[in-house]
Amino acid sequence: MPAAQLAKKLKMSIRTPHDITDIPEEHLQELIVHGKNRWSAVLLKAEQPHNHLIINNPTHSEQRKESNVFHEISHELCEHDPDDVEIIGGLPVRRYCPEKELQAETLGFTLHLPKDCLFWAAKNQMNRTDISDYFCASSELVRFRINATGIERILKKRIP
Ligand SMILES: [Zn+2]
Repeated sequence: MPAAQLAKKLKMSIRTPHDITDIPEEHLQELIVHGKNRWSAVLLKAEQPHNHLIINNPTHSEQRKESNVFHEISHELCEHDPDDVEIIGGLPVRRYCPEKELQAETLGFTLHLPKDCLFWAAKNQMNRTDISDYFCASSELVRFRINATGIERILKKRIP
């Protein structure tokens, strides 16, 4: 399932800094020019559950943006409290301890490329490039998930 679809199911909206209409120009510059490598995606939690906003970094690749959303959703699903909050371009960027980051990363990768999707892809004769394109996932992520799921061993078939 694409990240945007999962976010929608969880009643989260995905936006970019450009969508924030009253954002000051200097903040926008910090978010998309000077500070663009200092953040991936920001989760803005609303008072009422199910109105959360994910602000995604528009300067990243499509694959990375897709991963960013799965990652932020994972922090939320794991009910992680941030260990620190850094303000970048006026946005509160949540920072987590390495253990929480590892949890969110692992869950995010799994949500991005679930085992069932890899089985389906293999059944449909997709190669790694096809999988990468279809699921908007980096080649590193495709390789990582193929190894982590042991799918080639299970199917006794190499995914080229
Ligand atoms: Zn994180």
